[in-house]
Amino acid sequence: MGFKISVIEGDGIGPEIMKATIKVLELLNEKQGLGLEFKHVDAGDKAKEKYGEPLPNTSFEVIRNSHCCLKGPIGETAGSVIVPLRMKLDLYANIRPAVTLPSIASLFKDVDILIVRENTEGLYKGIEDKTDEYAFSVRVITRKKTERIAEEAYWRAAKRKRKVTVVHKANVLASCRLFREVCLEVSRRHPEIQTNELYVDNAAYQLIKNPLQFDVILVSNMFGDILSDEAAAVVGSLGLCPAANIGERFAIFEPVHGSAPDIPKEYGNPTAMMLAAKMMLEWLGEKHGEKKLFKAAQIIWKSICDVLREKKVRTPDIGGNSRTEEFASEVMGKISLYV
Ligand code: ATP
Repeated sequence: MGFKISVIEGDGIGPEIMKATIKVLELLNEKQGLGLEFKHVDAGDKAKEKYGEPLPNTSFEVIRNSHCCLKGPIGETAGSVIVPLRMKLDLYANIRPAVTLPSIASLFKDVDILIVRENTEGLYKGIEDKTDEYAFSVRVITRKKTERIAEEAYWRAAKRKRKVTVVHKANVLASCRLFREVCLEVSRRHPEIQTNELYVDNAAYQLIKNPLQFDVILVSNMFGDILSDEAAAVVGSLGLCPAANIGERFAIFEPVHGSAPDIPKEYGNPTAMMLAAKMMLEWLGEKHGEKKLFKAAQIIWKSICDVLREKKVRTPDIGGNSRTEEFASEVMGKISLYV
């Protein structure tokens, strides 16, 4: 079976880390006959310059008609690309693993956290206004969407260490009170999973103080956005953390990080982007019952771990001075040993 993958290369470090990731995928495609077919689409800052809008309808149609999308980080127009894509395609679950990788300087060893973040409502719903005198953003929480994300978190926890931490600020916000109530209702349907809850400020503190206590963190949209950057710092770098935006029928895979405009374009760490590709292969594999996609995902994981463990090639964010391209060549060398 063939899979059409729409590809948004992104801005800043995006094109380089995407080029590195596509090379890795193409090598696996060639050696393992994965049937991946890449279709590049314009979106982001460059699309805005070229067409006057960051997500032209022609791009949206190509994305919508693909099996899934691999997306690089976008610059200034990030919010006008990923937020509408999440809403229009109803990609309700944002899945963000934060895992300690080999030989990476991090606050703790053996961190393995999965942030399950609601992706279509909360403070990013877009109900807002701003004048010179006042501004507001409405935070929307609904029973239906909270129940859906909570079920997702419990389903994932059942395959992991069976612990869910519900994060909210129910002592202050009415919207969080509904989020908490619904999450706890769902928790009662899953008595085999341990549930606890934390206020978001305490969760931010605990993530630094003792991240080993967490398995799955179940959280609303903006709180999840913030906690996942923090979790990335706990495991060593934003350049290491991938994310999946998942809906019933479609999914977009991207790094947690942004376009990193403060660093030279050719020095971005491509690990997060490559691990997003790994998540994509796993999602496609599960959806279409294709074992070879899981195997390819595992090869990406093992090859990245080997390169990090050897410490020969490292990008500056993890203490080296290698370029994206050099890191990618090293990963491809490892892949060649596994295929
Ligand atoms: P956004 O709001 O668009 O998600 P952000 O505010 O999280 O973006 P980033 O662009 O992700 O900001 O950058 C945060 C910091 O992490 C910057 O110092 C950046 O250089 C660094 N960084 C992010 N991604 C990488 C990467 N892949 N490789 C190296 N450094 C990175």
